[in-house]
Amino acid sequence: MNYNKKSVEEIEVRGKRVLCRCDFNVPTKEGKITSDKRIVAALPTIEYLIKNGARVILCSHMGKPKGEWKPELSLKIVADRLSELLGKEVIMAADVVGEDAKAKAAALQDGDVMLIENVRYIKGETKNDPELSKELASMADIFVNDAFGTAHRAHSSTAGVADYLPAVSGYLVQKEVSIMGKALADPDRPFVAILGGSKVSDKLNVINNLLEKVNTLIIGGGMAYTFLAAKGYGIGKSLLDEEKLEYCRDMMAKAAEKGVKLLLPIDTAIVESFPSPIDAEIEVAYCGCDAIPENMIGVDIGPESCKLFAEAVKEAKTVVWNGPMGVFENPTLAKGTIAIAQALADSDAVTIVGGGDSAAACEQLGFANEITHISTGGGASLEFLEGLELPGIACLQDK
Ligand code: ADP
Ligand code: MG
Repeated sequence: MNYNKKSVEEIEVRGKRVLCRCDFNVPTKEGKITSDKRIVAALPTIEYLIKNGARVILCSHMGKPKGEWKPELSLKIVADRLSELLGKEVIMAADVVGEDAKAKAAALQDGDVMLIENVRYIKGETKNDPELSKELASMADIFVNDAFGTAHRAHSSTAGVADYLPAVSGYLVQKEVSIMGKALADPDRPFVAILGGSKVSDKLNVINNLLEKVNTLIIGGGMAYTFLAAKGYGIGKSLLDEEKLEYCRDMMAKAAEKGVKLLLPIDTAIVESFPSPIDAEIEVAYCGCDAIPENMIGVDIGPESCKLFAEAVKEAKTVVWNGPMGVFENPTLAKGTIAIAQALADSDAVTIVGGGDSAAACEQLGFANEITHISTGGGASLEFLEGLELPGIACLQDK
C-alpha cells in the first residue's frame, strides 16, 4: 500500500466547499458527551480549513442507527461542543443529503462551518452506495478524510465519495499514516513489536505480517498461553485457542527461520477463578510458565517477564504495541500492562500503540503523553499492522 498521500495543505481550499469526514463517534451518556477527545482531535484540520477560507461541510457517523432516523444518535450535541471549542457558530443541518443540508451547504461563506447529520441515518452509507456517494459529492468541491477510525471501512462517506471529488488527507489521517506507515515500511531498528490481548485468532494475520518486518516479537496477554501450550507446556485453565496450536507452531518456526527473536512470558500471575465482576478484589499467586498448576488460570505476565520484555524494549528504536499483557481491567492484574506502558514511556524509540484496549490502558494509566503515537483507530490500526490496504486511505490522491 502506498502511504504517500496528498494532505489538505497540498490543495487549494480557499472559497471551495470542502466535505471533511471526521470521527465524531463520541461516547455519550443520557444525551451528554462523556469524552470529547475525538472532537478535539479533529480541530487542527477544521481550524486549518477555516483559516484558509474554505467553506467547511463536516460529516461523521455516530453509533449504529442502521439506516434509521434515531434521534438519540443525532450529531447535534457534537455541533454544540465543536462550536464551543472553535468559539464560532457550527451550522447544524437537519438531514444528511436532504434539502436542508444542501441549502445550508450552498449558502456557506468562506470560513463558515456546518455539520450534516449522522451519515449512517442513510442505509446506503455502510453499503458504499454510489448514489449516496454522488449526493455527498454534489455538495462539495473537495473531499478531506480525517477519520482514521473508519478508514478500514469502504463506506460512502469514507471512501466512495472520493470517486467523485479530489480527495486528500486531514492532519489526523496524515499523522497516523506517516508514523505507522514509516514503522512498517522503513523502521529504525531494532524494531520490536509487542502483541497481547485475549485470543490468537483475533490477531493471526498481524502476527504473520509482523514476523516479516520486526527484529523481536513479544507475545503476552491471553494469546501467550496458546503459544506456551504449542511448546508443550501445561497451561492449566488459561485461555487456549485449541484450533490455533498448529498455527502457533508454524509462527515459531517462521520466526526461527527469519532470525526473529520471539519472546514469550517466562512467569505468570495465576488465579483460581476469573474475577467477577472483572475489577473485584482478587488473590493472586505467581509461578514459572513451565509450572502452571492444572486448576489455575494465567491472567497476567509475571515480574520476570516484565523485566525480560522491558529489556527488549530498551534496545529498540521502533516499538509497536497492540493488546494488553493481562486482564488489566482488574488493578491487581494490570501490573504487566503497566510495566510495558512504562517501558515504552521510558524509551527514546518511536513508540506506537494501536488497539482499543491498549490505547485505553495507556490513557487510564497516565502514560499517554510519553508515547510517540497512540492510534485513534482500534480496528483500523490492526488492519494497518496486518498490511492490508485501508479503503479510506487508498482512495486519496498520491503525492
Ligand atoms: P486491543 O483492544 O488492545 O487490541 P484486545 O481486545 O485484543 O486488545 O484484548 C484485550 C482484552 O484481553 C482485555 O479485555 C483483557 O482483559 C484480555 N486479556 C488479556 N490477558 C488475558 C488473559 N491472560 N486471560 C484472559 N483475558 C485476557
Ligand atoms: Mg479490544
